[in-house]
Amino acid sequence: MGAYIAIDIGGTRIRVAVYPEEGTEPIRQEKIATQGEGTPVERIIGLVSKLWPKNERVLGIAAAAPGPLDPHTGIVFEAPNIPGWTNLPLQQILEAKFDAPVSIGNDANMAAMGEWRYGAGAGHHNVIYMTISTGIGGGVIMDDRLLLGQSGLATELGHVTVDPNGPACGCGHRGHLEAMASGTAIARYTSEQLAAGRKSILPCDPPPTAKTISEAAKAGDALAIEAYQRAGNYLGRAIGDYLHIFNPSIVILGGGVINSGALILDPVRNALKVDELSPQYLKDLIITTAMLGDDAGLLGTLAMARLQNLERQLIPDD
Ligand SMILES: [Zn+2]
Repeated sequence: MGAYIAIDIGGTRIRVAVYPEEGTEPIRQEKIATQGEGTPVERIIGLVSKLWPKNERVLGIAAAAPGPLDPHTGIVFEAPNIPGWTNLPLQQILEAKFDAPVSIGNDANMAAMGEWRYGAGAGHHNVIYMTISTGIGGGVIMDDRLLLGQSGLATELGHVTVDPNGPACGCGHRGHLEAMASGTAIARYTSEQLAAGRKSILPCDPPPTAKTISEAAKAGDALAIEAYQRAGNYLGRAIGDYLHIFNPSIVILGGGVINSGALILDPVRNALKVDELSPQYLKDLIITTAMLGDDAGLLGTLAMARLQNLERQLIPDD
């Protein structure tokens, strides 16, 4: 029997899971803090070594990493949450250490792969996945392939300009979708309105968060409801544009902001109808929430490792 090793690298924790040749139940898994004794790379190698299967052959290792990276060359350009990770040849480092093929992917792309193969998008061939939390990330599957682009940098769905005069985005540019519709953006807008004297059950101090605003909205607070409607409207208008570009059969929305349910999803659905070129884009379109939660990244890397193993069998290197 063979096995696969999936690695999910985040700014605060590293998860490693060993999966059987088929199925999505891990044989064993463990998580550790990203920072601690040794460098993050040493910690990853240590955990993979610890969990390395004794009786099964490892058919592939795949890792999801934060930040822009190139899956073609295996280089992480920049991981904002992991100091020192600039132009890091992560794939080569892991390949030199372990006797198995290695592939890497951007964390949002890997979550998209996970939801496509094993989650809400199973059975679909054209999928848009977006995660809306403190930031906004995305991944797109078109005609059963993850879209990567020339340097693997495609489908940054949160970093499109919605308002050139808008507030600064997490990336530093102005008015990106992430700056208008993320949890951070919802909190910032609410804080600004409170500072301007708007009435609300939310106090100015401590500053509101996407979660406390969601609770206030559910209690009927007009400002909190407006903050979510505003974000949902920006999000829906952007998704409307993405429908024109990608023409998916399903849009999967994940991340903490989406946990607020109808509060954000109703304005998204309403905004979607505004600008469509043709009703065909919306015909049979499914807008749904993600199913896999925190496991999306791990399961996405598992999906990638399996697909690459399949490709190697079909088209051997030598
Ligand atoms: Zn941005």
